[in-house]
Amino acid sequence: MDYKILLKEAEIPRQWYNLAADLPTPLLPPLGPDGKPISPDMLAPVFPMNLIEQEVSTQRWIDIPEEVLEILCKWRPSPLRRAISLERYLGTPARIYYKDESLSPPGSHKPNTAVAQAWYNKQFGIKRLVTETGAGQWGSALAFACRLLDLECKVYMVRISYEQKPLRRVMMNVWGARCVPSPSQDTNAGRRILQEHPDSPGSLGIAISEAIEDAVTDTTGKTRYSLGSVLNHVLLHQTIIGLEAKKQLQLAGERLPDMVIGCAGGGSNFAGISFPFAADKINGANIEIIPVEPAACPTMTRAKFHYDFGDTACMTPLLAMFTLGHAFIPPPIHAGGLRYHGMAPLVSQGIVEGLFAPRAYPQSRCFEAALLWARTEGTICAPETSHAIACVIDEANKAKQEGKEKVILFCYSGHGLMDLGGYDAYLAGKLQDYELPQEQIDRYAKDLEKLPAAPVRRSGRW
Ligand SMILES: *Cc1c(COP(=O)(O)O)cnc(C)c1O
Repeated sequence: MDYKILLKEAEIPRQWYNLAADLPTPLLPPLGPDGKPISPDMLAPVFPMNLIEQEVSTQRWIDIPEEVLEILCKWRPSPLRRAISLERYLGTPARIYYKDESLSPPGSHKPNTAVAQAWYNKQFGIKRLVTETGAGQWGSALAFACRLLDLECKVYMVRISYEQKPLRRVMMNVWGARCVPSPSQDTNAGRRILQEHPDSPGSLGIAISEAIEDAVTDTTGKTRYSLGSVLNHVLLHQTIIGLEAKKQLQLAGERLPDMVIGCAGGGSNFAGISFPFAADKINGANIEIIPVEPAACPTMTRAKFHYDFGDTACMTPLLAMFTLGHAFIPPPIHAGGLRYHGMAPLVSQGIVEGLFAPRAYPQSRCFEAALLWARTEGTICAPETSHAIACVIDEANKAKQEGKEKVILFCYSGHGLMDLGGYDAYLAGKLQDYELPQEQIDRYAKDLEKLPAAPVRRSGRW
């Protein structure tokens, strides 16, 4: 039995899988401020047309460009590992496999899409990409990708993270990107906020406004904006994770997994590992597919399915998704990447259909799981990833009680070596759980009443 199942570079998948082609009920279209579906050209100042085409595509398989594959092969195919030490510790009959996405240069799954997005932008004649970042995972992934493809990169980083987590900013600088704290003096949106609140700690919403303004006001037309999760084309680029896993499980002598698990912030690593298996489920396979979120930011488990803005500043089109409301201010939990108010439309429609069954975990349970993981398997996971691990451990224990030989597959989305502050707080007993009070959920959901409702359509198959 092998602890890690490796594919040769020649065996890397050469196409991405598009779930939009197979969803039994079609995705609801994005809407403009007038409540009417937007046309692709309305997005043209923000994204290059080749990525807009991917965003609206319903073609099942989309070729991965050769040059993108070449760069991905710096760390891909990623290993599929068997968590044998954890299995032995738990005494479970379950077989636990995980895709190790922590081995990419920036340390997470995010460069899978950063490299693809940078390439398509370059192909379209774009010279410069701008984006926002919270804790810095996405900013560092895009900085890395832009360096390899010779694009300029500018990152608006939420000021409080910029000050509290300087090391991700250093990574961006090492790869040659400019990273400024947001709100900044570089945009109208930033200057306006600084005038009123010179000490503003910033927010993801403000940073998004600054990045979009930066992109659309470049009169040369050579700048575009880039987003690290949520959108259809981002999820598409991540499906290479699950497509590799499928080949690797076969090499390990397994058939389809019984369960597929991933943590979900905007939904991209979860989509990456699970969508190729969701296709099997749509074709009749019996697979439990579980996205896991923090109890403190319960988008999938307690929020409404509704049209909402993707950002706090209400600049994006309206997306049909599970959302806590665009003004939602998440509690300061350590899993920074899981604090987004919404959820990818493709993942959301899959939940409406019953293809995916979401769960929520409080952060103390997640750090407990992360510690058990580090003390058995040996690696220190990102606080985001610990949500998937907490769910895996529960399911492995359940398999033990039921005496069932389940095959569990999950996505190890990133390492936690830049997030040791959270571990320090947990070990010092200083970590608090935040159960979001219902009245707070209701208060932010009030904003949604002014926006179009999203009709709930399901085939009734699950
Ligand atoms: C950003 C991030 C996440 C959450 O983003 P998704 O788009 O939901 O995948 C999860 N894990 C890690 C390590 C991240 O950096």
